[in-house]
Amino acid sequence: MTVTPARETDVLRAQDPELAELLLGELARQSTTLQLIAAENFTSPAVLAALGSPLANKYAEGYPGNRHHGGCEIVDVAERIAVDRAKALFAAEHANVQSHSGSSAVLAAYAALLRPGDTVLALGLPYGGHLTHGSPANFSGRWFDFVGYGVDGETGLVDHEQVRALARGHRPKAIVCGSTAYPRHTDYALFREIADEVGAYLIADAAHPIGLVAGGAAPTPVPYADIVCATTHKVLRGPRGGMILCGAELAERVDRAVFPFTQGGAQMHTIAAKAVAFGEAATPAFSAYAHQVVANARVLAAALAAEGLAVTTGGTDTHLITADPFPLGVDGRTARGRLAAAGIILDCCALPHGDLRGLRLGTAAVTTQGMGETEMRRIAALLALAVREPGRGKSVREEVRELTGRFPPYPG
Ligand SMILES: *Cc1c(COP(=O)(O)O)cnc(C)c1O
Repeated sequence: MTVTPARETDVLRAQDPELAELLLGELARQSTTLQLIAAENFTSPAVLAALGSPLANKYAEGYPGNRHHGGCEIVDVAERIAVDRAKALFAAEHANVQSHSGSSAVLAAYAALLRPGDTVLALGLPYGGHLTHGSPANFSGRWFDFVGYGVDGETGLVDHEQVRALARGHRPKAIVCGSTAYPRHTDYALFREIADEVGAYLIADAAHPIGLVAGGAAPTPVPYADIVCATTHKVLRGPRGGMILCGAELAERVDRAVFPFTQGGAQMHTIAAKAVAFGEAATPAFSAYAHQVVANARVLAAALAAEGLAVTTGGTDTHLITADPFPLGVDGRTARGRLAAAGIILDCCALPHGDLRGLRLGTAAVTTQGMGETEMRRIAALLALAVREPGRGKSVREEVRELTGRFPPYPG
């Protein structure tokens, strides 16, 4: 199997069969069920090779050419390549590729621009704001004074007039745009205009759409936001990790906010894997992929609506769909359980109206597997059947096995 090179797998199996079985079992789970979690994807074997490389052994606090450890001459080149590729890919003046995760990138952005106690305006958590956008369970809610804007209960769209009114009323130090569950494009120019009107920084948390941006399938926040935070493992299809993009004038502040303010040694194997992923994302094949992700999501959203689910905002511009399964007779939590039993894996999410949970799903992973619009219609039919008739879960599970068998994530 290309993803678990024979030699390494044999070594692990000989030394620790218990863990070897788990690794292979997880590969089998991912390959035989439908991965519709909007934040997940399948990285390439090349990305996995970088992640499993001896760069994992290297300590490298600091930045290329200015490290606290010796022996960094090779990993310095890897990080410079990652930074240069990220800057070129997103037309950004500066890129920091050391953030360990999307949340770490947001923490560093706040550290670069804010002081504890500052007011920040962000999408409220009940509407799809991320934990780092002011959750009381997260550092963000503890250390900053978050004010939440929302979405329109009818249309599900961000209420821009409310954003403007709250910005005028609260005079935030920063405004955050971006969400974990918003299916439409963000109007970055409008957020910039509102931020300028009240003298706030604009932070775009583009963790979800950044892969579409890389492929030219979604508008870029880079020219509008003071700082763009992102993940590298969602639609972008790289290793699990974060990234920050900004203009030259904030470069030093952002770098210091990542190291030494919020992180220690950089994970050089992950940074090398990010470089590999940025290289892949710069190809015409990735651009075609990103556009197919959106085309698939549009077809899937329309097919789910035809099955009776209430698709939020009436559709999607991106890889992401949120929908209320209530017209099928169940809430999101029950639906997620029935779907998992049938091998269809997705998340629950908040809905713009009411307290019931909805479903959040995305097309990044299934599109990487090579599935197209025909398969999206089939997935919608299987999903609706599994939700409506849990007794048929077993037969849906068999159909999912057949479908995924024709589109292996790691062929060979
Ligand atoms: C996924 C996500 C993050 C955080 O990513 P992690 O790598 O899980 O920390 C941050 N913000 C938004 C909007 C996200 O969707």
